[in-house]
Amino acid sequence: MEQWTEGTRSQRMKLDKAPWSWNKLRRKGSKQFLWVTFSLWTGFTFVGFFVPVRELGPELLSFSAGGWASFWTFFYGFATYGNAGYMREQVCKYMCPYARFQSAMFDKDTLIISYDEKRGEPRGSRKRAADPEALGLGHCIDCTLCVQVCPTGIDIREGLQYECIACAACIDACDSVMDKMNYPRGLVRYSTEHSMKKGETRVLRPRIFVYATLLLVLVAGLVTSMATRTPIILDIIRDRNFLYRELPDGVIENIYTLKVINQRNDARTFQLAVDGVAGIKLDGVPDLVTVDGGGVLSLPVRARAPADSAYGIMDISFTVTDVENPSAMMTEDSRFLGPTP
Ligand code: SF4
Ligand code: SF4
Repeated sequence: MEQWTEGTRSQRMKLDKAPWSWNKLRRKGSKQFLWVTFSLWTGFTFVGFFVPVRELGPELLSFSAGGWASFWTFFYGFATYGNAGYMREQVCKYMCPYARFQSAMFDKDTLIISYDEKRGEPRGSRKRAADPEALGLGHCIDCTLCVQVCPTGIDIREGLQYECIACAACIDACDSVMDKMNYPRGLVRYSTEHSMKKGETRVLRPRIFVYATLLLVLVAGLVTSMATRTPIILDIIRDRNFLYRELPDGVIENIYTLKVINQRNDARTFQLAVDGVAGIKLDGVPDLVTVDGGGVLSLPVRARAPADSAYGIMDISFTVTDVENPSAMMTEDSRFLGPTP
């Protein structure tokens, strides 16, 4: 976006130094407009993971979205704006864990972006037609293009550094120089430290097996958690306004709000049940409730138990069962309160 509005790096530097003018204002203003719009879009799509996204858009535009959704949209948007607009490579260098992983996980046989020192040194400028061997030079013409294109500003010719994010921009830049000089490509290329020094790489080594095992364990954990996932979420909120109510016919009543979340894409019918106290049953709810795909149903319910079995604080559990697939069920514990014996 910066390139679209302000041009190449040198044009941007020139624009920064230039006094304020209509052209500068227009270019900088367009950049900020694009940045802010894009940042808010990332915030919007992020919050859209957690709340129904079709309603979120009109709500945000009409300033009627809830506090939670508005806060995270703006917070995440601000983070994108700050990180991508201003922090840039500092995020890669100091905030992203990738840089720290590499130093811990890499060894001399890891495939990395490498500069072929044997081929490139001694570096130095020369005419295109000149024979580097006759001049006692390697293939690096010291044009520094690989450094200029590096988003983290490192010189790959100094060896692998933790700031390198393996974007391979230096490979493309150097290959274009090699093409112009009629030298073979690959002065900067994917290779290993051992290959560069000794000409061979050891592929099968202990860390490969350790990493493969860890990866397999993680994949197995992911597959198991997906296979055993219950597509229902049940939340129980006890009415805090009163502890219990004694009804005239010798019945104790407690009030709850059940939130049934259907995580499947299609509408499902559920049966509600309560257990834990002799004779307890639900009142004020139909036997079966239907929840839309991805929907949330909020149900105020009354649980009633005979007074002779409801004393003090008792543990009870609510169960929601998918009528068509009874193995899909969710149970949540709660408390039922009665008079102290
Ligand atoms: S791969 Fe990317 S980050 Fe690494 S040195 Fe090359 S240009 Fe820089
Ligand atoms: S781009 Fe290639 S030739 Fe130019 S300085 Fe980097 S390594 Fe040397």
